[in-house]
Amino acid sequence: MSEPLILDGKKVAESVYQRLLLEVSLLPVVPRIVFLRVGEDPASQSYVRSKEKRCLELGLRGETIVFSESVSEDEVIGKILSLNRDKDVNGILVQLPLPKHIDKARVLRSIDPYKDVDGLHPENAGLLLQGKPRFIPCTPAGIIELLKFYNIPVAGKRVAVLGRSEIVGRPVAQLLTNHDATVTVCHSKTQNLTAELLRSEIVVAAIGKPKLVQANMVSSGVVIVDVGINRVDGQILGDVDFDTVKSKASAISPVPGGVGPMTIAMLMKNLVLAATLQSQKN
Ligand code: NDP
Repeated sequence: MSEPLILDGKKVAESVYQRLLLEVSLLPVVPRIVFLRVGEDPASQSYVRSKEKRCLELGLRGETIVFSESVSEDEVIGKILSLNRDKDVNGILVQLPLPKHIDKARVLRSIDPYKDVDGLHPENAGLLLQGKPRFIPCTPAGIIELLKFYNIPVAGKRVAVLGRSEIVGRPVAQLLTNHDATVTVCHSKTQNLTAELLRSEIVVAAIGKPKLVQANMVSSGVVIVDVGINRVDGQILGDVDFDTVKSKASAISPVPGGVGPMTIAMLMKNLVLAATLQSQKN
């Protein structure tokens, strides 16, 4: 098979930023986001730094509140409630994961649904389920944007989504269904993963297992979207064995440089949307 199309998330994210710059210039406010980070997990630190940096580059306001690992759930929620009341704050993002003693669901539920730029509040998850999304979780939204940019149709296609997490698998399966794909969600209890993958025209892998998807598991001409970010011996690997699978794929997203940059781009898009919706409400 000829070389596959590389789904270049950096390039697509840049085109999103160009559009956002224009939208931001038309807004009556400079959108402001507050990141809440708990503890000193190096991956969380690096994700929040990248998000803050991107805000700066777009002329948006982004700042981080850091709590110690031992902070109480009530203290985090108390801070969120005060940010909810602050009219000068448009978006609130709690960087996950949270320490085990904090109830993630309760924390996420405390965010004002109109400031929930990660799209994880049950109200926003429910709207997505109803096919009337407001804030779509960033990674799933980025996957759709990536496919759209490269004119890869999803309507009527058989899609396998690997993983059913709240943050990637479930919402991306829902979003693809909203876009008229025929979606199969696979997870750790799926009986014959290879059979499911072989009959799929598009595979979205979000399982967190380095190189789990191998060339013999996918059909010729498949479109591969690799969400995985796995740190192995100082390297970042996807959930798909890029080097072997690319010989069978018609299109494939690399790791890094595929879905990752799209996730931050969609966060910025949600922040601009939040500021727009709030300025319309006021
Ligand atoms: P979770 O650990 O929350 O979920 C993993 C899912 O994969 C679960 O549904 C699990 O099934 C399923 N799974 C695990 N092992 C297998 C297997 N062998 N076969 C089939 N299914 C399996 O992960 P996330 O959804 O949070 O993240 C997935 C990956 O995506 C990670 O590498 C993460 O770092 C990356 N990620 C990347 C982002 C980006 O911006 N590019 C953003 C967010 C995540 P079960 O439900 O049965 O346990």
